[in-house]
Amino acid sequence: MVERARRAAFIYSTQLERYAYPPGFPLVVQRAKKAYDLLKSMGLLDAGSVVAPRSASREELENFHSRRYLAALQRAAKGEMTADASRMGLGTPDCPIFGDMYDVSVWACGATLTGAALILSGAAEIVFNPFGGFHHAKAEKAAGFCYLNDMVLGCMALSRGGKRVLYLDLDAHHGDGVQEAFYEKKEILAISLHESGETLFPGTGAVDEIGAGDGLGFNVNIPLPLGTYDEAYLAVFDRIVSPLIQWYAPDAIVLELGMDALAGDPLAHLCLTNNAYADVISRLLRFKRPILAAGGGGYDIEKTVRGWALAWRIFACESCDRADASLGMGGVMLQSGEWSGGLRDRKLSIPERQRISVGTALEATMAAVIANVFGRHGIDSPVDGSESAAASDSDP
Ligand SMILES: [Zn+2]
Repeated sequence: MVERARRAAFIYSTQLERYAYPPGFPLVVQRAKKAYDLLKSMGLLDAGSVVAPRSASREELENFHSRRYLAALQRAAKGEMTADASRMGLGTPDCPIFGDMYDVSVWACGATLTGAALILSGAAEIVFNPFGGFHHAKAEKAAGFCYLNDMVLGCMALSRGGKRVLYLDLDAHHGDGVQEAFYEKKEILAISLHESGETLFPGTGAVDEIGAGDGLGFNVNIPLPLGTYDEAYLAVFDRIVSPLIQWYAPDAIVLELGMDALAGDPLAHLCLTNNAYADVISRLLRFKRPILAAGGGGYDIEKTVRGWALAWRIFACESCDRADASLGMGGVMLQSGEWSGGLRDRKLSIPERQRISVGTALEATMAAVIANVFGRHGIDSPVDGSESAAASDSDP
């Protein structure tokens, strides 16, 4: 039986190709075009699914960012540096000054807001903006390659439109800008799965950062140890994230789909394959809630592009993905090289020592989340029997 395709929108236009970060910079915004081209070449993106973004208005940006910061950012892009600008994080190795810095960031915000509007109007159930995901930017500070925070603006737009919003951040880096924006608010439940701040930028995202004031218990961090691999990651999803979604019962999910948690990413140290991202997306779809997804990190360009293309295929038509995998198109079937066709990564063989060290660290982390957050909201502590536990039993 063929599953009816969802109303999924892919936010893209050639307008976005006008902008770039400086040559040689790790963040390559052309990943969006590459994902678009790959999906087109595979026949996975029909013209009706592509929606051109609009830019964000100054007023929309001011919903989160200060006027002072926006003015400094715009002036810096024109080469006018002020003392204010360097205090606001502009002109650092991570956030260099370049001509497109204002425009590229405003368009990323506009693209995510275009997606939020599609969800609010009911024109789309799922939206993917591969040009967004800039989760480190603060109200008045640039950080970690991010100047303007489209994820915060996306959450705010949906929340103001009456949606109960759950933010889920799968980027290898902690979503600190989003955490900071909503730390004292209960209107957004923010969950971030990221490599532990002990080993990775930005250093925040500890398990005891659970919000404050009205927002106490509405910020959930799940720091992951080095080498976290697919089955361990999915166990965390099943035991922590899934019960939280069930309890919170969101009207919409905002998803940061950074692909830098993939094994081999040059800036992080996790060990996922894109099969884990695919499985998380499939689980999210079962909640039957609108999803506003944006790209985020990912510094192995080819793997990132393939991961996003796989994500899109599942967003658009989950049964199409299953059909592809069963026909042997999946990289998991192939023995030579990491990838020889299809969109899926090969499964990785995880040494026993790594399984034990990751498992021990994650058990402690999950126990802390259950004690700090589940207890506060009266969420039942999950028992064994999760899907991933069952699946890993049958794995070699
Ligand atoms: Zn990242």
